[in-house]
Amino acid sequence: MDYGKVRVRFAPSPTGPLHIGGLRTALFNYLFAKKNNGDFILRIEDTDQARYVPGAEEYIIESLKWCNIKIDEGITVGGLYEPYRQSERKDIYRKYAKQLVENCDAYYAFDTPDDLEQMRIRLKAEKSSTQQYNSITRGSMKNSLSLTNKEVKQRLESGEPYVIRFKMPENEEVTVNDLIRGKVIVNTSELDDKVLFKSDGMPTYHLANIVDDHLMKISHVIRGEEWLPSTPLHVLLYKAFGWESEMPEFAHMPLTLKPDGKGKLSKRDGDRLGFPVFPLQWINPVTKEVFSGFRETGYFPEAFINILAFLGWNPGTEQEIFSLNELIKSFSLERIGKSGSRFDPEKAKWYNHQYLIKKSDDELAELFQSILKEKGIDADLNYIKNICALTKERVNFVSEFCDQSYFFFEAPTEYDPKVIKKRWKENTPDVLKDIIDILNKSEPFNVENTEKNVKDYILKNELNMGQVLNVLRLTLVGSAKGPALFNIMELLGKNEVITRIEAGLVNIIK
Ligand code: GLU
Repeated sequence: MDYGKVRVRFAPSPTGPLHIGGLRTALFNYLFAKKNNGDFILRIEDTDQARYVPGAEEYIIESLKWCNIKIDEGITVGGLYEPYRQSERKDIYRKYAKQLVENCDAYYAFDTPDDLEQMRIRLKAEKSSTQQYNSITRGSMKNSLSLTNKEVKQRLESGEPYVIRFKMPENEEVTVNDLIRGKVIVNTSELDDKVLFKSDGMPTYHLANIVDDHLMKISHVIRGEEWLPSTPLHVLLYKAFGWESEMPEFAHMPLTLKPDGKGKLSKRDGDRLGFPVFPLQWINPVTKEVFSGFRETGYFPEAFINILAFLGWNPGTEQEIFSLNELIKSFSLERIGKSGSRFDPEKAKWYNHQYLIKKSDDELAELFQSILKEKGIDADLNYIKNICALTKERVNFVSEFCDQSYFFFEAPTEYDPKVIKKRWKENTPDVLKDIIDILNKSEPFNVENTEKNVKDYILKNELNMGQVLNVLRLTLVGSAKGPALFNIMELLGKNEVITRIEAGLVNIIK
């Protein structure tokens, strides 16, 4: 499909860290832009000063960077339509708000918080179906539609605080053509006179969003489903400004749901249920509360992007592993579903595992080496590389190599009592002594030779294979865990293996 010049924006509010839902919005915008040779713009919507959180903007930028989502225009890179931070565009919005008032599409309202509260109490007492500021109630409130021109002028000149409200037309049908949901029709009688411009001189989200999308020549608005109810107002604003023919296309993405599918995935769910919901770790600047991040948990950014892409989108084939470039090639809005997409933490780990096993052993070894260094373990890179090759099928994250391979770096000091109870027999010390002899003679000391020689010995003496191999493992590892026994032996080397079996003979007491 040819969309003309595609320009999309990711327009987060810096009210806290982005969670996976927010980052998915960024990713889908980016994929759509790149697929259609378009521009991806980052705009910061910081007009709600009460909800501003220091550090949130930096967090957004770092998250995009980690995901390899490149900003073509906007915050950090600049562009033709600067500034891209809404708090720096105040005067622009004031001008457009006034224009709406002049054209009678909006009006000044002087009601105090107390007036608004009284209105709500009155409407409730009258058992009115809604308690909204709308075409029915506005006539009894203090605004430029109910007051005389003279009064309005006086109030404005005396500096009385005011807001500018949209004059919602009465009983009109508004149609939103959504690229994902199809036609959504709403009657204006269900909508209220939203505040467009606040008494602090700042626009609300609705006004700023429309003005900026228009001035920045945005072609497609791709955002979360929670914004669908606001879209009829947005369509009416485009009409009121006379910009209807240049109105962007809308695409509202399904919600991201909790793992059990019951309700929207919330920022608190992650740490409550034991998985991250934020791309990067976030420390609340006020409470110092720490929220875990995918990056710090050990997810690779490529895996994380793949996980995000499948939250709502699917390629229509069996393929599950997609690089960023493959996603760009395959992406289309038509393949985004309408129903909410469940976040599955187990599947997320599976994705990371798929990316981990595809990495070279050299790369894994370097990553694992730095974890070992932090733990004060200094080991040879080639040794670490062999360990990674042997254990990578068993881990989802690089950090899990520690659990899978600690015995390669230190001899056991304790032995699993359950294994001892089950496997250690009266003849075990003699068998182990024989095995020491056999191993001593195994040259070269590799998997093939040691396996053949030990197994031949067990068969020849009609011993129990499982029992002997398990006690042997017990002396080397301290438990019944770990990868293939003869691979462990080859990596540990002859001297270490024999030293450990001898130590087992001394230290394991049934
Ligand atoms: N600032 C809004 C948000 O935080 C943007 C919504 C939109 O994309 O229109 O999600």
